[in-house]
Amino acid sequence: MKALQELARKNIWQISPDETSLDNPGKDDARIFLDANEIPYNKPHNRYPDPWQTKLKATLSQVKGVAPENIFLGNGSDEVIDMVYRVFCEPRRDNVVAIAPTYGTYKARADVNDVEYRAVPLSEGFRLDAQKTLAARDANTKVIWLCSPNDPTGNSLQQTEIEKIIMGFDGIVVIDEAYSDFSPAKLFRSEIGKHPNIIALNTMSKAWGRADIRLGMAFANEQIVKLLNKVKLPYNINTLTQRHALDALEHRQDVEKWVRMLLQERSQLMKAFEYLPICERVYPSDSNFFLAKMTDARSIYKYLTEKGIAVRNESDVELCENCLRVTVGTKSENSELLGALRQF
Ligand SMILES: *Cc1c(COP(=O)(O)O)cnc(C)c1O
Repeated sequence: MKALQELARKNIWQISPDETSLDNPGKDDARIFLDANEIPYNKPHNRYPDPWQTKLKATLSQVKGVAPENIFLGNGSDEVIDMVYRVFCEPRRDNVVAIAPTYGTYKARADVNDVEYRAVPLSEGFRLDAQKTLAARDANTKVIWLCSPNDPTGNSLQQTEIEKIIMGFDGIVVIDEAYSDFSPAKLFRSEIGKHPNIIALNTMSKAWGRADIRLGMAFANEQIVKLLNKVKLPYNINTLTQRHALDALEHRQDVEKWVRMLLQERSQLMKAFEYLPICERVYPSDSNFFLAKMTDARSIYKYLTEKGIAVRNESDVELCENCLRVTVGTKSENSELLGALRQF
């Protein structure tokens, strides 16, 4: 791995932590807070949020098995994805490599940040080919984006190929584990001690059932977390989000129950899809959704829309011609979907 100083953008590296105005050292033991121009009324909403999310990180640390200093929190993982570009990629000079198809935000934020995005198609069966992926990099490649389980394909990438990329690349490897709660695969967030160049992402938006609070997590080497802290807006995680996230973490049994139910529903729904004459192929899934190749995805998508059922049409996505991405719903939602499809 290259030194972080070489990987980070020069202007970011040079920012001193004091410049970020996240801290007032005189505040730690204060009883009376007259330092932040908040009015003293309308408690508790008058106060700014904790910019370090200390309590939330302490709890997350226990649940996720990662030390607090190795955790960075964003306004959804989407914010963290954008911040990775702002920390590491010099616009119009640096580039990133990603798999295709994958989560669209990696490309969208590359475009916004004016960073070249190199997409390497997955192999047959949406498998990761480390050698082919690494071949797309050059001296200006700062980041490789991996997503496992991958969206929209649903499958986990092979661990050995991911490891080959981590070992074979001298820049940052991001592994987006948004769907890892649905998968038995090994978690890369537990490997951050072994590999200083990885950033593992996770979110409250999927298995944790809290997409509305916007809380994304990055797990990484402490030096990487420090760089992200230099770039973040001081109060990117509001107090209501921090409170709701703590509440979610206190109700972990709910998540385990939801995952169990969804996995059961997924297997029934996938089996039913295989029997549909209008379905040509169902791809294996480690997520709470699956990809299905249909006879005519565009018309089926339109038909479902007219019936008030929203699925995702992936037909225009590389390697996904005629594919729909179906999120697993409740038992009754799934049977309504199947009923509609049987009448198509
Ligand atoms: C849904 C999803 C996310 C979640 O993003 P948030 O901003 O945390 O809601 C992240 N990565 C992938 C691959 C996803 O599909």
